[in-house]
Amino acid sequence: MGILEVKNVSKNFGGLKALNNVTLDVRENTVHAIIGPNGAGKSTLLNCLVGKLIPDTGSVMFDGQSVLGRKPFEINQMGISRVFQTPEIFGDLTVMENMLIPIFARRDGAFRMHAIESVAHESAVLEQAEKMLIDMKMIDKRHMHAASMSRGDKRRLEIGMCLSQEPRLLLLDEPTAGMARADTNNTIDLLKQIKAERDITIAIIEHDMHVVFSLADRITVLAQGTPLVEDEPQNIRGNPKVREAYLGE
Ligand code: ADP
Ligand code: MG
Repeated sequence: MGILEVKNVSKNFGGLKALNNVTLDVRENTVHAIIGPNGAGKSTLLNCLVGKLIPDTGSVMFDGQSVLGRKPFEINQMGISRVFQTPEIFGDLTVMENMLIPIFARRDGAFRMHAIESVAHESAVLEQAEKMLIDMKMIDKRHMHAASMSRGDKRRLEIGMCLSQEPRLLLLDEPTAGMARADTNNTIDLLKQIKAERDITIAIIEHDMHVVFSLADRITVLAQGTPLVEDEPQNIRGNPKVREAYLGE
């Protein structure tokens, strides 16, 4: 049984079938990559998992409970955390202040910006934030403004902010998009470290095949809203259906 079970999910935008009967199982403690050409429906699928979109048909179960009809923050509280295509961090705040936000929000259920100064003096919250920054190898950057960091470090911070919520499922939508090769490789190493050290399942949408084949235990190929193949990486590379789907990319 998968920790995430998607069954017969369809989503139309007007006359366009963005998702057409998608069924997919993500097994616990694996890295599951969802790949496919542009417009295949990858982001639409992810949005259906986190409550940003509601499928027209089908079911989405996380750890035996339906996520459908729940709000994004409720799904987040169930244990699903999502990393966006563009890093969602606060550029005007320091690295440490950014890291305090999800920890505080998790404790109090809500976050008010003006609370950050008072919270920064609470040792338990500070300790947690420091620990996560050490884990993320960012502790020496704690006083830096988030906006001044490289794309790779912004992504690293954002992933750390997600992990501080202790999710059981981490969803990433093209986490290395727009990155230089060195930052991409750092992100691969970070995700490998997370996979090795934490009790976590990772579902990753990714265009860069180097990233996919470095990380994935299983791969689902989506094309035109339909899963074409689901298999282990070594069986995906030479698959003629997959090659055909990517022709013209
Ligand atoms: P991918 O992430 O695989 O590139 P998307 O899920 O973003 O693909 O898009 C799948 C299809 O649905 C595309 O044809 C896209 O133009 C369309 N689409 C996505 N979101 C919307 C929307 N909110 N309204 C209308 N069409 C959309
Ligand atoms: Mg997309």
